[in-house]
Amino acid sequence: MAYVITDTCTKDNHCIEACPVNCIHPTPEEAGYDTVPQLYVHPTECIDCGACVPVCPTNSIYVLDELPAEQASFADLNAAYFN
Ligand code: SF4
Ligand code: SF4
Repeated sequence: MAYVITDTCTKDNHCIEACPVNCIHPTPEEAGYDTVPQLYVHPTECIDCGACVPVCPTNSIYVLDELPAEQASFADLNAAYFN
């Protein structure tokens, strides 16, 4: 599976700091950070620990099973960032 970030993300980086496997990108140190509209979860590196969810002040992170239907496209959008 993998968790998925949606477009209410404000890039405050709390999830980056909470993620134990560093699978949320880009980080502020990485190229492209300033221009991406939101952050993304790597679809296979995510270990489904859920640590990122409670630290997100905008409730932008969903486990794939609970991704609202109207935001289903964000699963592919997160994965596509890493292609
Ligand atoms: S914690 Fe939420 S708002 Fe902050 S960067 Fe992560 S997904 Fe975006
Ligand atoms: S569920 Fe865990 S591993 Fe996956 S992005 Fe969130 S903090 Fe990282």
